[in-house]
Amino acid sequence: MSHSFEETTIVLRVVPFEDRHRIVTALSETRGKITAMANNAVNSRRFGSALQPFSAATWSLVEREGASLFRLDEAVLKKGFEGLRRHFESLCVASCFTEIMLKIAPENEASLDLFKLHSNALFGLEEKALAVESMDLLSIYQILNAYFAKLLHWNGTQPQIMKCLSCERSILDFEPDTIFRASMVTAGWVCPDCKSYSFELPDQESLPLHRKFLTLTQRATGDFAFALTHPIRKCFEVFEGNLEDQRNLYQLLLALLHYHVPGFDRAPMKSLSMMAEFKG
Ligand SMILES: [Zn+2]
Repeated sequence: MSHSFEETTIVLRVVPFEDRHRIVTALSETRGKITAMANNAVNSRRFGSALQPFSAATWSLVEREGASLFRLDEAVLKKGFEGLRRHFESLCVASCFTEIMLKIAPENEASLDLFKLHSNALFGLEEKALAVESMDLLSIYQILNAYFAKLLHWNGTQPQIMKCLSCERSILDFEPDTIFRASMVTAGWVCPDCKSYSFELPDQESLPLHRKFLTLTQRATGDFAFALTHPIRKCFEVFEGNLEDQRNLYQLLLALLHYHVPGFDRAPMKSLSMMAEFKG
């Protein structure tokens, strides 16, 4: 028994197999992460450039009973996202998005929201890469933070972003330079007027994770909120935080993802460590 079907996909990983074949893993629109064998894929017209990393394509697949891999018969390219290769930095960031999907996307299980997040992120990143002469650090952090915030939301982690966890005052009541204390675990923050904010804390390293904190300006917490309410490509326009704010927000979001999202381990992101800023 076998049956054929079509899938819209974005390539995550390509592994050569026995000279002429390719094993391709992709994020699909209706089946989550899928892996297929493309026989005789090298220089084949049936695939063209549709099996390059980041390529979005329509795949013609065959599912055979008892087989662990799908068979990929044809792939028609929809969008190659070649613009991502314009800058080393945009390539690293796109690879980071791919690395994350390989880790957390469910296998053979529908997750349309994740597919949309990933494709919107590649669109937004490519649009930016094509518009600038060089990718500056601020833009890199902005899109990483927008992606991470949306990933947390996809995971069902509901941060209390708009008010102080303790006194419930709105963050809009504070000046942009106000420094909040953010919890790594609860995805929320405490304002400087609250008692729980001001006590002396011992060395961070010795604290258990649920008591670890980071500091974040009101501007940065606002960007977290913007990330959840705007399309990802808008982050370059609507985010108000400076580079320092984005760095701090990045640290917080990474900690939250590690803590809340299954599969998001503590290993450093390989694709980002190629950039000097993200080493170590
Ligand atoms: Zn408060």
